[in-house]
Amino acid sequence: MSIRRQLDRPRPSWAWQDDAACRGEDLVLFFGPDGERPPERDVRERKAKAICSQCPVRNECVDYAMSRPEKYGTWGGLNEDERASERRRRMRRAASAGIPAA
Ligand code: SF4
Repeated sequence: MSIRRQLDRPRPSWAWQDDAACRGEDLVLFFGPDGERPPERDVRERKAKAICSQCPVRNECVDYAMSRPEKYGTWGGLNEDERASERRRRMRRAASAGIPAA
């Protein structure tokens, strides 16, 4: 995305984060350390997703992560690969509805 298009986007509201279930949790649960091995990653992500599953602003969190280039971490209970799949699903749905890609 061009810098111009990024600058034209409305600034995101962060108010939803006030109700986030992850407030006060260790950030490492949501953003793993460099060099993390798959077994440890699976355990960490399961813990993060358990918190997300109880979060009252999960939809807002997913929508935020989908609308921004949030490449890393667990957002709204979705890891990087799951968000990429969700992003493709949303793009297909928008294309079939005739909505131009953002
Ligand atoms: S959905 Fe998960 S990552 Fe998003 S605000 Fe809630 S607890 Fe935090």
